[in-house]
Amino acid sequence: MTDYKQGQRKKAFERDNYLCVVCGKPANQCAHVIPRYIYFLKKYGEKIIDSYHNLKSACSLECNKKIELKIKGGDSELKQYNKIKEAISFEVKQ
Ligand SMILES: [Zn+2]
Repeated sequence: MTDYKQGQRKKAFERDNYLCVVCGKPANQCAHVIPRYIYFLKKYGEKIIDSYHNLKSACSLECNKKIELKIKGGDSELKQYNKIKEAISFEVKQ
């Protein structure tokens, strides 16, 4: 894991007080709000996907899955982009 990723995970854990944002148990992992497989975000770079804005503390894979943003395959790129912006509340630089 890179220093960048490690630093961002630490920030996410600290923001969430090391507690799972779903159930409140002690967290041991970070969940991505925007899943890593969202194809068009790859062009914005890994730094956005791995930013602490996009990370939430979780205690288990079960809770981790609940955090992941559900994006319908049929939605347009703009609709997906707006949904993502809303979910992680920061501007993706074009
Ligand atoms: Zn949990």
